Amino acid sequence: MIKIKSKREIALMRDSGKIAASVLLELGEAAQPGVTTAELDKLAERLIRSAGGEPAFLGYQGFPASICASINSEVVHGIPGLRRLEEGDIISIDLGVVWKGYYSDTAATFGVGRISPQAGRLIDVTRQSLEKGIEAMRAGGHLSDISHAVQKHVEASGYAVVYSYAGHGIGTEMHEEPQVPNFGPPGHGPKLQPGMVLAIEPMVNAGGAAVEVAGDGWTVLTKDRSLSAHFEHSVALGKEGPEIMTIL
Ligand code: MG
Repeated sequence: MIKIKSKREIALMRDSGKIAASVLLELGEAAQPGVTTAELDKLAERLIRSAGGEPAFLGYQGFPASICASINSEVVHGIPGLRRLEEGDIISIDLGVVWKGYYSDTAATFGVGRISPQAGRLIDVTRQSLEKGIEAMRAGGHLSDISHAVQKHVEASGYAVVYSYAGHGIGTEMHEEPQVPNFGPPGHGPKLQPGMVLAIEPMVNAGGAAVEVAGDGWTVLTKDRSLSAHFEHSVALGKEGPEIMTIL
């Protein structure tokens, strides 16, 4: 069942989302050559806690950190560690916050120092595909309108969406119904209604769509080791249209 949130709940999710957005912005600035992903993780935890929130990912199904840090051909769920970022890397940072019982979930891919034009274009197209997905979130429309808008933009740009991971409903739990795939024909799935809150999160590969899980049991990589990017917002549907929660 898809939970419909009240105005009061949406207000709490907005506050939760603002914390997540501000932390992600700071992490993006801190993602410089020479910095380790463990340092970014510690910074994230400190910032989330000092804002009065809790890191939603820490301990989630045993995940050992407050952020997922996925570099270059890593798609999602990378575990922070001692790897130092290098000039030209791209890093996808995903984080979640709990605030007064309400979750927010957001992600972005950042360039480390100067990056190649190819990497820059992948990042731009992935961000745009999230924007297209959000625009397609309309009361009376269907869930797969979002999925279709993402896929259409990605494939028209010559890239591939990841099929095996999806966005999700969000609220008093990080993962609620429904799943929000990044592919599919429009006009299918549940009807979208005001009060629904969805985490929409395109994962886009520069090469093929296929992915695999690394030996650590968490990190998802592109099978062909092409670059991958990831953007995510938690978005509430209001009567007037979508409202991004994870924005300042
Ligand atoms: Mg998510």
